[in-house]
Amino acid sequence: MLDKKYYINPETLSYERVRLTRKQLYRYVGLFSFGLICLAILMRFGFERFYPTPREIIYQQENNNLRAEYVALNLELQQVESQLVDLRNRDDRFYRAILSLDPIPNTIRSFGTGGSERGQHLMNLREPGMVRNVSNRIDNITNKVRLQNNSLSAVLDEALDKQEFLACKPSINPISPADPVWLTSSYGYRKDPFTGKRSAHHGIDLAGQIGLDIHCTGAGTVIFAKTNRHGYGKEVVVDHGFGYTTTYAHLDDILVEKGQKLKRGEIVGTLGSTGRSTGPHLHYEIRKDNRAVNPFYFFYENLSSEEYTLLASQASYPEGSYQPVAMSQK
Ligand SMILES: [Zn+2]
Repeated sequence: MLDKKYYINPETLSYERVRLTRKQLYRYVGLFSFGLICLAILMRFGFERFYPTPREIIYQQENNNLRAEYVALNLELQQVESQLVDLRNRDDRFYRAILSLDPIPNTIRSFGTGGSERGQHLMNLREPGMVRNVSNRIDNITNKVRLQNNSLSAVLDEALDKQEFLACKPSINPISPADPVWLTSSYGYRKDPFTGKRSAHHGIDLAGQIGLDIHCTGAGTVIFAKTNRHGYGKEVVVDHGFGYTTTYAHLDDILVEKGQKLKRGEIVGTLGSTGRSTGPHLHYEIRKDNRAVNPFYFFYENLSSEEYTLLASQASYPEGSYQPVAMSQK
């Protein structure tokens, strides 16, 4: 409450109350209102400073949730990274090793795993570290997965190639172990039975009964199936790819045609004595890049009579050990 003010009127010599002029009154009201507005503004900012608004509380909660999610994301990324390391080790030490492929050098593995350009804009954030870290890790993982994917594709191609190679490479005896045969001439130099002179024998001779089944020793394509006028009589030559061919000569009967595709174990003809032959036998020859090699090195499959029969009936690639074994000789 404003105190009432009085003054002495010199004319009446009595106390009279001081009355404000209208102008003074407006000035006082104006000042008072301005003061109130300033106070309200100060209170508002002061209040916000210490007491967040409901919207700010919501933002704060969202921020906390995002932080928690980033922490969880980082942990998940850590697990993915450790699985990638496992995959990489298996790739280098197992898959590539068994296929004789070189491990991928570390320089290539670590290529593209540095800082991320994509995360540059995140530097503007108040706390860019956590977000940038996740962004960089995702980039690194993406690069590693891409590299691993390429590596596994190469491994798969190599495995398919090797599988085909193993199916095609000559690796069994051309005559079943169940059939009685004996080796009459081995690979290398020998005395020619016709001329008596020392000459190279490019294959092995297996003597047996006329009519025994002669089997193809690896998957391939028949490239020759007729009488050879230079001494081999009725002859079948199979191209196995990868530089390998096999020759089955002096046959009694040819049971395949030129161009025919064969699986390992299929019958190409029967044992005979056609051409330059002193008795019923099979001349079996293997060539690698057109040079004769010793067939004994190619009898990898240690098949029993039963396994051989099964193979011949199914004409498919068998599972088996790779111990080189001598042929059955009787
Ligand atoms: Zn021979």
